[in-house]
Amino acid sequence: MKKILVSECLYGGRAVRYDGKLIPETDPIFLKWKEEGRLIPVCPEVFGGLPTPRIDSQRVGERVVMRDGTDVTKEYRLGAEEALRLALENDVAFAIMKQKSPSCGSKIIYDGTFSGRKVPGQGVAAELLRKHEIKVFGEEDLQEAAEYLASIE
Ligand code: SF4
Repeated sequence: MKKILVSECLYGGRAVRYDGKLIPETDPIFLKWKEEGRLIPVCPEVFGGLPTPRIDSQRVGERVVMRDGTDVTKEYRLGAEEALRLALENDVAFAIMKQKSPSCGSKIIYDGTFSGRKVPGQGVAAELLRKHEIKVFGEEDLQEAAEYLASIE
């Protein structure tokens, strides 16, 4: 059975989001995969050593900065490396990552101005996974991901 890497905030169970909230994914496709034991939860920001809750961060080019100006690029890169390590170790079929996050976003992220504006782009971990040929879907693409899984199993 193929494994799937997922953002831990979608998986649920442990508070890992910057705001400390629990907002687990409840789509039946996702819950079925969870029940089957396919899901490998990862939170790159926690892996990178950041606390929960934490000040929110955004990508600014190749850097990641917190709202207060603290540069957290190193932590984000470290966490992305650990997510990649687990993806490779588990030979995952693909990843389902939380949209808009500076780590996990796969299509849309905030624009780095902390004004609420979003732009096309991807988070640090999603980018690293893709560099290693791992497909990344957002949580809005579960149907497409399920069709892809069916095509390779
Ligand atoms: S880094 Fe990814 S898994 Fe962790 S809270 Fe942010 S979006 Fe969720």
